[in-house]
Amino acid sequence: MKNLQPVRGTRDLIGDQALRFEIIRNVGFGIAKLYGFEYIDTPIFEYTNVFKRAVGETTDIVGKEMYTFNDKGGEEITLRPEGTAPVVRAVLSNSLTQKLPLKFSYCGPMFRYERPQKGRYRQLHQFGIELFGIDNPYADVEIIAIGMQILEQLQIKASLHLNTLGDNESRNNYKAALVEYFLRYESELSDDSKHRLRNNPLRILDSKDINDQKIAADAPKGAQFLTASAAAFFAKVCEGLSLINIEYIKDDKLVRGLDYYTHTAFEFKTNELGAQDALGGGGRYDGLVEHMGGPAIPGVGFAMGLDRLALLMENQALIKPSPIAIICVGEYWSDALKISQLLRSNYKSVEIIYKNNPGKAFKEADRINARYAVIIGEDEIKANAVKLKDLTLSPDHPMKERLVAIDNLLEALNAKN
Ligand code: AMP
Repeated sequence: MKNLQPVRGTRDLIGDQALRFEIIRNVGFGIAKLYGFEYIDTPIFEYTNVFKRAVGETTDIVGKEMYTFNDKGGEEITLRPEGTAPVVRAVLSNSLTQKLPLKFSYCGPMFRYERPQKGRYRQLHQFGIELFGIDNPYADVEIIAIGMQILEQLQIKASLHLNTLGDNESRNNYKAALVEYFLRYESELSDDSKHRLRNNPLRILDSKDINDQKIAADAPKGAQFLTASAAAFFAKVCEGLSLINIEYIKDDKLVRGLDYYTHTAFEFKTNELGAQDALGGGGRYDGLVEHMGGPAIPGVGFAMGLDRLALLMENQALIKPSPIAIICVGEYWSDALKISQLLRSNYKSVEIIYKNNPGKAFKEADRINARYAVIIGEDEIKANAVKLKDLTLSPDHPMKERLVAIDNLLEALNAKN
């Protein structure tokens, strides 16, 4: 029945897949904390204007991919397609611009009406970082370092692609040169790129159309149009990366789809996912806060896609929790409950196995990857004790199984760990 399927392009995250997402989220927030970033959570929908303004009407995201609807009160609402615009909106709504710098990390679902395929979903998940109020190029280096450290900790191989879009003056000069160049080939360009020629000529450079790419190969290069200060800024970013041994590939076709980027643009790429090779991307957006109605505050950040990171982790062995299994031989459930709570209040992971048959109970303990079994039976209860069984030891090991007084159970478990 169609209605019992998830909507096209959305997925349930269950089991190992859910665990991978949990790991990525924890690693992301943990590393962001090392750099002083705080968790922020914004609503998953906003007034549509937030995205139109911040992301730009000429981008694919706003032009083609947004989930927009009128709510029952007639307000035009959009499910967030990306995380930067809502964070900027939150900074302005909460009057935080007097407390700079601001450092935020977030994680959650985003929504884009794209053609679904492996690594591309309509509900995708991103972990992101935003830093406001610092215009030092080393801030860009630190942001990139966070992304690299997350990838490294997740044991994901990726390369860093780096470019600069310069400041407004550089960008405008470059745009003019690109329009002049592409106008010569206008009739040969794809329909999308013909449209971009008028609205967003930089985007032709990252067109996926093969013929567009051939034409773009000989287009003028951005580096020629950088102002002296924009070139110096980029040189500092490159120097900072080298200082901390982060390798990068200069990629002058990397323009990213969003209008508000200035100076640094970067992407983390893999060569293991075919066309969906971007694992994350970001850059500097010095004009954005002002563009959204706030003061002129510089910003830099990135977003990574959890869905693609999780795909790349499919070959990695997952470290599963190994709890203590409580097994009753007889109706000793109240003792099981009390002992479980005693252990859990001391931060031990415990599962009560609700099976009357010990054979089935041990099978279940095995299935949940239990490290120990605590067995409660008639003899044990009489002695105010339990049997503690180490499920990882061989049957003839002297410490395999022993009687432990309930009062000493925690101590016995701690001694063994
Ligand atoms: P973007 O905001 O477009 O730069 O996206 C940042 C990252 O999110 C990308 O590098 C991808 O890893 C991921 N991403 C973007 N769109 C999708 C999608 N439709 N499905 C899965 N992941 C996506």
